[in-house]
Amino acid sequence: MKPIVRFAPSPTGKLHVGNVRTALVNWLFAQSQGGTFVLRIDDTDIARSTKAYEDGLREDLKWLGMVWGDTFKQSDRFDTYDAARDKLKAMGRIYPCYETSEELDRQRKILRAQSKPPIYDRSALELTKDQISAYEAEGRKPHWRFKLTGKPAVWNDVVRGKQSIDTASISDPVLIRADGSYLYTLPSVVDDIEAKITHVIRGEDHVTNSGAQIEIFEALGGTAPNFAHTPLLVGKDGKGLSKRLGSLSMDQLREQGIEPLAICSLLAKIGTSDPIEARQSLDQLVEEFAFSKIGRAPARFDEDELALVNSRLLKEMPYSAVEDRLKAFGIPANETFWELVRANLSTLGDAVGWSTVIHAPMPGQITDEDKEFCQQAAKSLPDDITLETWSAWTGALKQETGRKGKTLFLPLRMALTGRARGPEMNKLLPLLGAERAKARLGGEVG
Ligand code: GLU
Repeated sequence: MKPIVRFAPSPTGKLHVGNVRTALVNWLFAQSQGGTFVLRIDDTDIARSTKAYEDGLREDLKWLGMVWGDTFKQSDRFDTYDAARDKLKAMGRIYPCYETSEELDRQRKILRAQSKPPIYDRSALELTKDQISAYEAEGRKPHWRFKLTGKPAVWNDVVRGKQSIDTASISDPVLIRADGSYLYTLPSVVDDIEAKITHVIRGEDHVTNSGAQIEIFEALGGTAPNFAHTPLLVGKDGKGLSKRLGSLSMDQLREQGIEPLAICSLLAKIGTSDPIEARQSLDQLVEEFAFSKIGRAPARFDEDELALVNSRLLKEMPYSAVEDRLKAFGIPANETFWELVRANLSTLGDAVGWSTVIHAPMPGQITDEDKEFCQQAAKSLPDDITLETWSAWTGALKQETGRKGKTLFLPLRMALTGRARGPEMNKLLPLLGAERAKARLGGEVG
């Protein structure tokens, strides 16, 4: 049976590295098995969900290359959830509760003070008809809880191995708020049953949730799918990323010039037994994907590592992969230019700077003590520059001046490019041309 998986973001914020990793594990697994990746928009929280966030996350997934096979929104399916609610009501598996959030808070505080776990005491199940009528007369509306069996919910997690959640140790989950709106728990199960999801792959913050959801699957007559709970991402300091996720959103990273493949390469490998390397295609990541490689320890996400993967990726990128984007920068790019500069870029945008160095007039940067040397170098530079010119020319200068190493090469590089580091000079020089090179060596604009 081919797997069917879903990525189920809530459109209440921007897509960030945390949820992209969940999306990626789902997507890579589906691709590796010839399965289907479903994009489900979890927008039951109407007040916090926005169309702009939804559009943004679809755009981000496309940018990253994670194409979905099917997609739907929970807000289009309230009738289906109402039917499930009615079924659970008829079975007596959900029950109305009238406590206010202040009352519930107080109960939890009391239990904590007694060193007891803050589990809901089910007092709503004891309410008499009269008490219920009194609440209703006060204008209180009930929220609805799912009655857990109190037995252990057991499953064999694809990442974590055998799991057992004692449902007696968790509160009966609220499925429906007092205003009639749904929390995510029930719609998710209804959708997973209907979409025939075979594997629920998500962060390990959902492990306890899975205990309750397995019972909801069973109550609704479905079978629970396989579960895979992946460790959460932490920063390089080992601390949670939640406070920094804003700056780790896809639109921020895109703005910084990070390549989508760098993000996918890193997120596919952190927390796994594979080394972190830049990959030139998602296909390669698909080929290398296996649940068995995902460890149990938190996956460390380090922005510096992302920057490194990004520059390594560019270094190996073929011209065909960047041609359109280089041209969109408005620079006269070609394969020779790309092969010259690609090893010297942190982001693709840096290519613009190198194009300017090669194609736009600028004065040579020469210190007083190197002036004479550079003038001499200008004179001995041949008019016809080939790939061999640099080594012959600097070899001769070495002989004539006795300079070597840094004192020989650095003044030439600075005069010609204005920068102390950069592409290989033997390749750069022919692109620069003799006229421009001579002017710059002479301290003039060229
Ligand atoms: N919308 C939920 C979340 O973002 C989905 C969790 C799940 O995959 O079931 O946490």
